[in-house]
Amino acid sequence: MNYKPALHHKIFEIVSQAAQELNLSSYVIGGFVRDYILKRDFKKDIDIVAVGSGIDLALKVSELLPNNPKVQVFKTYGTAMLRFEDTDIEFVGARKESYHFESRNPVVENGTLEDDQNRRDFTINALALSLNKESFGALVDPFNGLVDLENKIIRTPLDPDITYSDDPLRMLRGIRFANQLNFNIEENSLATISKNAARIKIISGERIVDELNKILSTDKPSIGFLLLFKTGLLELILPELTALNQVEEIEGHTHKNNFYHTLEVVDNICPNTDDVWLRWAALLHDIGKAPTKRFNKKQGWTFHGHEFLGGKMVKKIFERLHMPLNHKMKFVQKMVIMSSRPIVIAQESVTDSAVRRLAFDAGEDIDNLMTLCEADITTKNPNKFKKYHKNFAIVRKKLVEVEERDHVRNFQPPISGEEIMAIYDLKPSREIGILKEAIKEAILEGEIPNEYQAAYTFMQKKAEKLGLKQIK
Ligand code: ATP
Ligand code: MG
Repeated sequence: MNYKPALHHKIFEIVSQAAQELNLSSYVIGGFVRDYILKRDFKKDIDIVAVGSGIDLALKVSELLPNNPKVQVFKTYGTAMLRFEDTDIEFVGARKESYHFESRNPVVENGTLEDDQNRRDFTINALALSLNKESFGALVDPFNGLVDLENKIIRTPLDPDITYSDDPLRMLRGIRFANQLNFNIEENSLATISKNAARIKIISGERIVDELNKILSTDKPSIGFLLLFKTGLLELILPELTALNQVEEIEGHTHKNNFYHTLEVVDNICPNTDDVWLRWAALLHDIGKAPTKRFNKKQGWTFHGHEFLGGKMVKKIFERLHMPLNHKMKFVQKMVIMSSRPIVIAQESVTDSAVRRLAFDAGEDIDNLMTLCEADITTKNPNKFKKYHKNFAIVRKKLVEVEERDHVRNFQPPISGEEIMAIYDLKPSREIGILKEAIKEAILEGEIPNEYQAAYTFMQKKAEKLGLKQIK
């Protein structure tokens, strides 16, 4: 079969011509070819292999392109990249080596196309289409990747022991692809991942997290996480999560398995959001439960303070995996710390002041928090399921009402500290804090509306009690 129709993007003609001028052969390889055959959306990145210098080819291609885009050259790896019409085109010289993808020890030696296909991770990622004039569009498939694509199988081109130990990240990639594409990992490959799991320790946190994020962005991340779990990788990457895989019984009391519960919550989040950080929050929302678990005769199993401890653990995990320690981390932490708040409200009768406080504390993140809490409902009892969802619907409705009336989501004190200082002729002092806090509390409790005049009158009474004299 000829795949010429796959190559209608202008870039392929130009690469072909550039390669001919340099007298070398070139191929498009990897994800582009795989996704074309699978009829997946074109992801705007294209990998080109040159049998010869990938850098020279990239420079030549740039010369031939309308406005000669800048070529980024990575000399150590013999690769180069340029952007053309919002597509990243990556060029690499065909090579024979085993350590290229592991940044510590790149041993690069020029090779043939087949050498290059040998060092790819999976047969379905080793498929190449010729860009050479005489065979333009011909598929080069030495490992029967096409058959594996049809049968939905993840298989390594070489003995999996070699492929995985050359670059242990491939174990995660294999699981990620299985999850993303809904493929099965070939049996021997899967066994080899389990055997080599400990080798993941040499891989940087950044590369690991890239893969975890891709798993968390699939329709059903639990598939990927269960594979990570079964192969022993999860225990090494996120032991805080696997610690939740337990069910204990004392005096007839059991508690739910919070590991499987967590995976359900993550899956529940998926259809509603494209925000990977909310999925991280779902993944980590119960991690404080393993270390806080206690049993007492009166209450049975308790996890007191697990949200707060969980919040602290989030930071440690982000640090360990070299994840961003910025507002994303703060967001995940906040979601974990607040993860029980709407539940507590929904269990009792939903009062306005409780809803107002929730809106105030969650601020901009209130919708995400509600989504997380709804995803957290995994009870298999249909009556309870309905009831909990109904209660959250009430909370959501009240949130809208309260917000319309009191605007506490982005709370701005109706009377500023400067104004209080002017009214009572105060220097920055404790009294100002007391007054501001009292006004805020009165608004959140619903004693006064969030309005200037009401706040002013309230402040006057409070100030009088403090013995302050008004000068304005
Ligand atoms: P996606 O872009 O959806 O992640 P992809 O297959 O394009 O999928 P990339 O990470 O962009 O994946 O890599 C491009 C190609 O480079 C792959 O198809 C594969 O042939 C090869 N490759 C990437 N990483 C590795 C690796 N760690 N080991 C071996 N080959 C790899
Ligand atoms: Mg790609």
